[in-house]
Amino acid sequence: LIDPGYIRDRIRTVADWPIAGVQFRDITPLLQDPKTFRVLVDCFVHRYMDMNVDVVAGVDARGFILGAVVAYELNRGFVPVRKKGKLPFHTVAEEYELEYGSATVELHSDAIVPGQRVLLIDDLVATGGTMIAAAKLIRKLGGEVFEAAAIVDLPELGGSKLVREQGIPLFTVCDFS
Ligand code: 5GP
Repeated sequence: LIDPGYIRDRIRTVADWPIAGVQFRDITPLLQDPKTFRVLVDCFVHRYMDMNVDVVAGVDARGFILGAVVAYELNRGFVPVRKKGKLPFHTVAEEYELEYGSATVELHSDAIVPGQRVLLIDDLVATGGTMIAAAKLIRKLGGEVFEAAAIVDLPELGGSKLVREQGIPLFTVCDFS
């Protein structure tokens, strides 16, 4: 339905950001252009409109942008997976390892009803740590992550393989090697 190159060509690579040696894949040009933003959203909506999605979960912060619009278009609710300390009500938390140190993601404990089919959305999969931690939170609450989705995969970092090894089907629009 979509030419991955169309999306890939509109992602900007910023060298040495946020630290030296990193090639950051910046999706803001995709969002800024009205046509590419629509093509991107439509790609996800067409994929999921017949997949019995109950709720869409989006990962802090770029996963909120795409996740919320896709949820709205699917006529489903949206729940935010947030970084530690941002959610005001009772939460469940999942800590995961980063290259240096660790990070924690949280979900409101009533965000998922047991048995719900959850579509999990972020912008990019690198090491896979964030997506896997978010999926574990959803599973803790009894939800089924029937698919995780992102705009970009960085397959050389191995994260997409790890996500799939967790039993989570993963859909990405394009990749960078
Ligand atoms: P991971 O946990 O898979 O190593 O990293 C993915 C998370 O970090 C995602 O939430 C994503 O937003 C962010 N991230 C890491 N590298 C990049 C990048 O190059 N571009 C963008 N847009 N996000 C990144």
